[in-house]
Amino acid sequence: MNQSDWQITGHTRLFGIIADPIAQVKTPQGLNPLMRERDVDGVLVPFHVAALELAAFVRMLRGLRNFGGAIVTVPHKTSIVSLCDEVEPLAAAVGAVNCIRRETDGRIVGTILDGRGFVEGLRSQGIGPENRSVFLAGAGGAASAIAFALAEAGIARLGIANRTRARSENLAARLAVAYPQLAVDVAPSSVSGFDLVVNATALGMAAGDPLPIDIAALAADQIVAEIIMTPRTTPLLAAAADRGCRIHYGQPMLDCQLALMADFMGMRA
Ligand code: NAP
Repeated sequence: MNQSDWQITGHTRLFGIIADPIAQVKTPQGLNPLMRERDVDGVLVPFHVAALELAAFVRMLRGLRNFGGAIVTVPHKTSIVSLCDEVEPLAAAVGAVNCIRRETDGRIVGTILDGRGFVEGLRSQGIGPENRSVFLAGAGGAASAIAFALAEAGIARLGIANRTRARSENLAARLAVAYPQLAVDVAPSSVSGFDLVVNATALGMAAGDPLPIDIAALAADQIVAEIIMTPRTTPLLAAAADRGCRIHYGQPMLDCQLALMADFMGMRA
C-alpha cells in the first residue's frame, strides 16, 4: 500500500501505550511514523489506565482480537509483571515489563527493552560492551534494566554506585542470581580503571544538579555514557569531553528501543 494513502480501516491493528498520567508520552509520535515506514497497517494510541484498573484492562486485552501490543510505562511497569501470561527471562530478572504483545491465542507476553535499547544504542555507535568493565551510577529502574542488559551482553565487571546504598546491594544480589559469573562491586571507590562509565541517575536533567560521579578520576581512555536525553550534552558529558573521553549521548537508547519495541510487538507489514 502507498503509505501516503494509508487510513484506518477494519483491517488496522491496534497498539497502545499504557500510562497514568498519559499526556506527556512521546511514543505515539515515534512509533506511528515507524509503522508508516515499515508499511504496517497499524495505529498506536494512548491508553490512560489508572493503577486500580490495570488488571481489568489486561484481561480485556486478551479478548481484543485486533490488539497487537502496547508499551507499558509509569506507574505500571512492576505491577503488570504478574498480570502477564508469560514474561521473558530478562524482564522476570529485572522485575519489570515495559512492552507487551498479544499472541493469536490471546496470551499476553511481556518483556523489558530499555536496557537492551541502551546496549543496542552503544553498538549503533560502534561500542561493543562484551568483556568491558562498566561503572554504573544509579540503581533505580533504568539503571537496573541497563545492568541486566549489560550482563546479558557479556560485560566482564560491573561497579554499582548509588546514593542509596541498599538499592545498589539489592541490584547486586539480583544480578548474582541471574549472572553468577559476573564480577560486581558495590560502591566502587572511584571510576578509575573502568572502560565505560554510565550515568543512569536522574542527575543532569535539572540546571544546577551536582555531577553524578567524581570526574577528577576520569582518564582520556574511558568512555562516558548518558541516558539523559535533555539536555543533549549534560554537564557530565561536557566535563568528560574536556578530559578527552569519548562520550555517548542518551538519545540512541530511546531510538534503538523504539525499533526493538516495534519488532517485539510484531509491527511488520
Ligand atoms: P528512578 O527509578 O526514580 O531512579 C532514579 C535514580 O537517580 C536512582 O538511582 C536515584 O538514587 C538517583 N538520584 C535521583 N536523584 C538523585 C540525587 N539528588 N543524588 C543522587 N542520586 C539521585 O528513575 P529511572 O526510571 O531509573 O530514570 C532515571 C533517569 O533515566 C531519568 O533521568 C530518565 O529520564 C532517564 N531515562 C532515560 C531513558 C532513555 O531512553 N534515554 C530511558 C529511561 C530513563 P536513589 O536510589 O538514591 O534515589
